[in-house]
Parts: sequence; C-alpha cells; structure tokens
Amino acid sequence: MGKYDFITAELASLKEQGLYNIIRTIESPVGAWTVVDGRRVLNMCSNNYLGFANDERLKAAALRAVEEYGVGPAAVRSIAGTMSLHHELERKLAEFKHTEDAVSFQSGFCANLATIPALLGKEGVIFTDELNHASIIDGCRLTKAGRVIFPHRDVDALARALEEHKDAAKKLIVTDGVFSMDGDLAPLPEIVEVAERYDALVMVDDAHGEGVLGSHGRGIVDHFGLHGRVDIEVGTLSKAFGVMGGYVAGKREIVEYLRQRGRPFLFSSATTPADVAACIAALDILMETDEPVKKLWDNTSYFKSKMQELGFDTGQSETPITPIMLGEAKTAWEFSQRLFQEDVFAQAIAYPTVPKGKARIRVMISAVHTKEDLDFAIDKFAKVGRALGVI
Ligand SMILES: *Cc1c(COP(=O)(O)O)cnc(C)c1O
Repeated sequence: MGKYDFITAELASLKEQGLYNIIRTIESPVGAWTVVDGRRVLNMCSNNYLGFANDERLKAAALRAVEEYGVGPAAVRSIAGTMSLHHELERKLAEFKHTEDAVSFQSGFCANLATIPALLGKEGVIFTDELNHASIIDGCRLTKAGRVIFPHRDVDALARALEEHKDAAKKLIVTDGVFSMDGDLAPLPEIVEVAERYDALVMVDDAHGEGVLGSHGRGIVDHFGLHGRVDIEVGTLSKAFGVMGGYVAGKREIVEYLRQRGRPFLFSSATTPADVAACIAALDILMETDEPVKKLWDNTSYFKSKMQELGFDTGQSETPITPIMLGEAKTAWEFSQRLFQEDVFAQAIAYPTVPKGKARIRVMISAVHTKEDLDFAIDKFAKVGRALGVI
C-alpha cells in the first residue's frame, strides 16, 4: 500500500464514471474563433460575453499600465499594494453600479471568501440558495455562523426560515443573481421584500449578471430596479469584463469594513496594474455604450430559438447561458468530443458542478459571435444531436 493509493483510486473512479475533466489548452487569444489543442474552433464556452477578452482598447490600457506601473504591486492591499489604479477602478465600479462605494479583490471567488466570514460570526445565520456558487458555499464554510440552505428560488421557504430565526443577532441572505449552470434568475424583488420584513442583509453574487443584465450591463439590481435595497453586490471582472478580478459594491460602511476585515484583501497580494487598467477600460466602454450588451442579447435569442426549434432542451435559462440538457455525463462528454471534431468548442458539464443525471453542454453566447458563427454552431449541434439520438 502506497500513501497515494487512495488518490490513484479516486482518479480511476472519476474516469470510470465519465466525470474526469478533460482540460483543453487555449493557444490563441480568446475570441469567437479560438485555437484550442492545435485546432481553430468556434468558441461556445468562454464567459467572454462582450468580447472584451481580446479587445484592442483593453489591451492598450493594460500595456500602458505596465509601462507606467510595472507588472506587480508586490504587496497586499493593506500594506503597500494599493495603487492609484485600484482607487480609480473602485470609484468607477461604484459609479457604474450606482452604489455608495466598491472594493476590488483578486477574483470573484476571493470577494465571496472575503465578505461572508467578515460579516458574520457564530451569532449570525446565513440563508443560502441550494444552487449557489461554490465560492459562496466556501465563504459560508469559513464562518461559524448557522446556515439555512433554502430550496432553489423558494422565497416562501426563505420567509419561513427567517421567521424561525428572527431573533438571530445578524441575518444574511445570499444568492447568485444569475445561476451559472442554468442561467435562471434569483427572485430578487421578492427576496428583498422578505429581507426588509426581517431586517436581514441581502447579498447577491452578480458574476453572470454584470455586462449582461440591466442598462449597459449594470447587473441584476439594475435589471429589477432595486438600487439602494440590496446591501452587497459581489461581482467578477473575469467574465463579461474579460480580465481578472472581483469586487464588492454596496453600502459605504460595508465596503469600508471589508477593507479592514476582508482576509483576501489583507493577506493576499493586490491585482496587477495590467489587470486593473484593462478593467477600467472595460468600465469606460460600458458606461459610454450599450452596443455590445444589445448584440449579446440578439445573439442569445437567435441561438436559443433555433436550438429549441431543433428540439433541444435548453432548460430554464433567462440569460445568454444556454444549457443543452443531455442527462448522463457520458452522453454530454461524447457530445462535446464530437462537436470538437466538427470544430465547435463547447464543454460538457457534469457532477459535481451540476447534479447527477443533469449533465449538459453549457453554451455561452458572446457579442463577438456573428450570425454565421451561430448558424455554424447550430448546424453542428443538429448533426451531432441526430447522430447521438438526442433530437
Ligand atoms: C465565476 C463565478 C465566481 C467566481 O468568479 P472569479 O472571478 O472567476 O473567481 C463567483 N460567483 C459566481 C456565481 C460565478 O459564476
């Protein structure tokens, strides 16, 4: 018996069940067409909603920042890592989101890990949707607060749980805004209403909402007209923004407190000048024009309606996230492999990212796709779907 045997056995079991991730390698900028494992393929699975990942304006801003500030701050934010660029980004984020203030982090994952444990200790209770993102789950695990996992989007169950815990000293409701695997929306207006009744904080993770929902892609709070009523908006700069980073936007006190107590802010080094400058450029573009957002939605409705006409099950999505539901992990995996041979890059997603038996191909629509690109993808989906008996 070797000490690594249990790991070898676990890896073999993942492969056996078709749950072993095939990690592909990108060999070009991320665009509509991307070189993956030596092959130029139509990219249908990056979170590059607005095409910013290879935008000339963002690249120019990043290059200028490297010339001016170098490649790294070489310190955590609270010691010597805060550059004027970070302040500019945070000011613009608050302006874009229409919040009192914003604080940036190294990633959306870090933003959740920073926020939840900073706000609540053992005297608190967290109310969390069962389909919340892994980074929210991990954020909850880092506190001694009690937690109630409510059924997906079930506000009645949430209200009952709040009633049961109404005497808790601190209460935090946390939900994804757009659920990343299904593309459905949190019932945020109803959540805010019950939160106000029970004096609970509301935190929404808008990772797949910003750049997508609301005016100019301001996100889910703007989409529902809830400005000032959601305490904490967590965001990522790594999806629609096409770069890297995360942030919290919200009430001045909360943001100020996270600069004092958010552990990734205090103990992990600050984001690089190039990243921050590229994010500022993305914000400048979005504040000026909503054209990429409109193009994204045009592409989304075109693709979804064609796929539904073909007989594919596209689940409950209300956003550009388009799951093609296939059931078994092995089917999804086989589907994805065949698409790749047809020059379409769309990854299979299976357990543990989604529940067992709910494997799918998750298609991510982007503003950089042309109609011809979408038609190409639709043709290939139809071809593989027929070959595998899915449609
Ligand atoms: C992707 C995602 C994150 C993580 O964001 P990163 O910036 O990639 O770390 C957090 N929450 C949700 C809901 C996400 O989809």
